Amino acid sequence: MFKHFINWTPLLMIDFRQGMYIILNNFFYYKVTINYPFEKSKISCRFRGEHILRRYFTGEERCISCKLCECICPAQAIDILSNSRIDYIRKAKLYNLDNTRCIYCGFCEESCPVEAVMHSFNFEFSKLTREELFYDKLKLLSNGDYWEIEILRVITNRLINYKW
Ligand code: SF4
Ligand code: SF4
Repeated sequence: MFKHFINWTPLLMIDFRQGMYIILNNFFYYKVTINYPFEKSKISCRFRGEHILRRYFTGEERCISCKLCECICPAQAIDILSNSRIDYIRKAKLYNLDNTRCIYCGFCEESCPVEAVMHSFNFEFSKLTREELFYDKLKLLSNGDYWEIEILRVITNRLINYKW
């Protein structure tokens, strides 16, 4: 008769036993957690992180201000103003990118005929204010200078592994 009034779960420590079973079962397995930010997980070569603008080896800006990236951007995050140089090669006078709008679709990178605008592998660029996420040309170029070697390594790997 009393069996209907007794709750056996805490008395038999069933929850505790189940917890211990899971702990012991996973104790010797490979760790899936990492000690971020001291350890970082592997990033795919297709990862789309912070934007960069690249230069040629001579230091000249790659961007020819064709505005393809601006046209294709679904979030209208890119704003370009063209400039004509004396030798009639168009360059961007202004190149603004609004990271608060960007959805990291990668269309700008794919549309660029000279591989000027690209995504770096940097995902650690959170800021305290919205204004800091509005990038101008200088900021994008300095990002490009910083990430150039890593980007070149990935492009070379892609070419090597491409099945012609
Ligand atoms: S990644 Fe997509 S949304 Fe972001 S700037 Fe490029 S085209 Fe626009
Ligand atoms: S970044 Fe590339 S696609 Fe965009 S304007 Fe410059 S050259 Fe054209």
